[in-house]
Amino acid sequence: MRARIKASNDLWFEADAETEEELFKQVARVQEIFQHNCCGKCSSFNVKFVCRFDSSENDWLEIVCQDCRGKLIFGRTKKGGQIYPKIRWDQLSEKQQEQRINEKGYAEKNRGYLPDKGWFIYKPPAAS
Ligand SMILES: [Zn+2]
Repeated sequence: MRARIKASNDLWFEADAETEEELFKQVARVQEIFQHNCCGKCSSFNVKFVCRFDSSENDWLEIVCQDCRGKLIFGRTKKGGQIYPKIRWDQLSEKQQEQRINEKGYAEKNRGYLPDKGWFIYKPPAAS
């Protein structure tokens, strides 16, 4: 069983599976990970997949809006090493929760989901 999945205007995937369940899972993965074709902040289609390294050589996966610098960050599951977009408050690390404390109230009122589908604009912490 084969399927073509459109993630965005310039990104297509092909899935090939023996069973309906396997095909379903592949489609779900593509949609969850790659189907982010516009910015959750400003709705621009000018978004880019970025992999960057920090000073400790950890790599970070994120989708960055070229217009407003909004971004959607990805995490990795401990088991299986799958990646997922961080769209819920409880998916943020402690440090990220500190940085994004202004989103907590929204998440509490919206079953744990972050505002703007998880997109945010990074503000460096104010110098103390
Ligand atoms: Zn944007």
